[in-house]
Amino acid sequence: MADDRASIAGPGRRVNVLLPLPLRGAYDYLLDDDLDAETGSFVVVPLGQRLLAGVIWGEGGGDEDGQVAESRLRYVEAVLPVPPMPEVTRRFIEWLADYTCAAPGSVLRMGMNVPAALRAPKPRLAYELAGPPPERMTSARARVIELLTHGPPMEPRDLANEAGVSSGVIRGLVETGTLAPVTIPDAMPDWRAALDATAPILNDTQRVAVADIAAVLTTGFSATLLDGVTGAGKTEVYFEAIAATIARGRQVAVLLPEIALTAEWLDRFEARFGARPTQWHSDLGSGERRRHWRAVAENRAKVIVGARSALFLPYADLGLIIVDEEHDPAFKQEDGVIYHARDMAVARASLGEIPILLVSATPSLESLRNVELGRYRHVGLPERAGGAALPEVHTIDMRRAGLPAGRWLSPELVEAAEAALGAGEQVMLFLNRRGYAPLTLCRTCGHRFECPHCSAWLVEHRFAGRLQCHHCGHSVRQPKECPSCNDSDSFAACGPGVERLLEEAVATFPEARAMVVASDTVHGPAAAQALMQSIRENEFNLVIGTQILAKGHNFPSLTLVGVIDADLGLSGGDLRASERTYQLLTQVAGRAGRGEKPGRALLQTYNPEHPVIEALVSGDRDRFIKQEMDERERASMPPFGRLVALIVSGGNEQQVIDTAQALARIGPRAPDIRVLGPAPAPLRLLRGRFRWRLLMHTRRAVNASAVVREWLANAELPNAVRVAVDVDPYSFL
Ligand code: ADP
Ligand code: ZN
Ligand code: ZN
Repeated sequence: MADDRASIAGPGRRVNVLLPLPLRGAYDYLLDDDLDAETGSFVVVPLGQRLLAGVIWGEGGGDEDGQVAESRLRYVEAVLPVPPMPEVTRRFIEWLADYTCAAPGSVLRMGMNVPAALRAPKPRLAYELAGPPPERMTSARARVIELLTHGPPMEPRDLANEAGVSSGVIRGLVETGTLAPVTIPDAMPDWRAALDATAPILNDTQRVAVADIAAVLTTGFSATLLDGVTGAGKTEVYFEAIAATIARGRQVAVLLPEIALTAEWLDRFEARFGARPTQWHSDLGSGERRRHWRAVAENRAKVIVGARSALFLPYADLGLIIVDEEHDPAFKQEDGVIYHARDMAVARASLGEIPILLVSATPSLESLRNVELGRYRHVGLPERAGGAALPEVHTIDMRRAGLPAGRWLSPELVEAAEAALGAGEQVMLFLNRRGYAPLTLCRTCGHRFECPHCSAWLVEHRFAGRLQCHHCGHSVRQPKECPSCNDSDSFAACGPGVERLLEEAVATFPEARAMVVASDTVHGPAAAQALMQSIRENEFNLVIGTQILAKGHNFPSLTLVGVIDADLGLSGGDLRASERTYQLLTQVAGRAGRGEKPGRALLQTYNPEHPVIEALVSGDRDRFIKQEMDERERASMPPFGRLVALIVSGGNEQQVIDTAQALARIGPRAPDIRVLGPAPAPLRLLRGRFRWRLLMHTRRAVNASAVVREWLANAELPNAVRVAVDVDPYSFL
């Protein structure tokens, strides 16, 4: 079809179009003179037999396709009715592709994964009162009429929900002529009204912090680490930076690590600004995705709060980025294009010449190092707001607790919890392990349940009656008989998970209102919100949870946090094991004592002399950080040296090994670059693919991404083998 047109239309001009596909580069097309398009325009082009949406990336005739004769080029089919992708977004996509060694089209895909948003928006249909009440009145009908008598026109779904009626009731009222459709604009809140009215009264340190940040809001790129203890009011402080930015009409992006965090965050935001921000995360419905994407592109959405993917929205005029909980490992995307959203956000701010705030009570060593080097500014909030004290932290030496097998609550912790519960306070028991037990085995023959697709044991989830793989999601019914020796009721659970801890807690505190909170026991954002609300209101006074409870939440009645196994994260041997454990346990302990009563945290440990545990008890963060920094520096590990991991995977292990070895043979040779491996990955089998790893280590000054790109450009890879590049790896599995 495009070829037919080539013979009748004029020659047009040559443009280079990037498609959201993992291709080597962008392709040239011809653009009819009567099509109105510019660089950045979203266009539809033919590729093979398909029509695809892409972006005009620049003038055509560049190196890749320069040789393709004009007569063989195909035509751009259409220009899509959406604002062109801004130049800074295009440069960000290129930069990110370079840095992560990904194809630019793969990165582009993250920015245009809402195809419907590129089409002309459908008008939104709402209903208003248009005629007399129906002859036959029912209470359902009356509720609908009542709502519309006192309010604006409403969309059918909202109307049905709020009136508590089925869609049939509304259709009926349309048929009787009582309701008539109108189209309504996609309204966005008017922020300016609320900006000053609801600002809180800040304390002196907070005011200094706000002024420090205000000083760099209009001076181009800067990165500021907002470093303040849990409950210091960091959120209040950065709300002021948001207010100042939207007052100037520019957009703000706030990245948060977890959706669970957003319910409470959204309420606070609404209390401050009188309106909800635009959300961006994986739980949005398709209509919301389409509308939100477009509102961002058209500069109608002013504040966007989302997970890491919010980085790839087509901001028309982004003026400030905030990364809250900047140390959180959830900012690392581990599939597809592998990137760290915090680091990429800094790059995005730099390209856009705008400020970025990195916010944390336990900043990453990477960010602290950048402060040391003078690259990031540092704004501190050393005390809790409103005079609340930080929780006291004590250890319980489990070597002396004398617990029988299968029990995890030490007498000391039990006593403290009883006292708190008796005083009407709330207790949290923290154990970062989902399910009932991490390992299940047969007492008769020793059989263990292993995932057929991964090198991992299956974890028993007793509530669900299933065994599950935490890596691929594979799940089977818990059998009655051992599949190996056929003995029945011979299974023994080894070690605790939150479900098992609940059993012990219920037996120990029979009066308590206990609840387990883990990612697999909470289904969806609405359920999470309701649950958090009931915990805030002390409906449950004994909360047992994993890390999903650790972050961001304010539970005013919570005064005691018991960490069941403070050593759990330290055993991994991963480069960041100490740092992460320190961060996680600081966050967990920080949940206690945020209300009027002081809080404390008790850490059960077999290792009370460990530097991480000592730092938590003494509260001497600086000493711990210095020790960690020194150790990393001696080993030239990040943030001092650089790492890039290559993960070679495929269904045939010998082919994977051969490929990995061939890669090692052609690896970079330079005095400040070392390549380790190949070695089998700790998770040697994952989702049915065998995995071997190579690890490249370089000095900081080396452009590691460029070295790897050149390395891989020279490699011949069999089709069935994949090489994933992980620049700055956080997972070594
Ligand atoms: P952070 O983000 O540092 O953990 P938050 O911003 O969540 O701290 O603040 C902790 C609590 O203290 C919140 O309930 C917040 O409303 C309250 N708060 C913060 N600043 C003030 C202030 N200046 N006056 C009164 N309450 C405050
Ligand atoms: Zn058996
Ligand atoms: Zn699995």
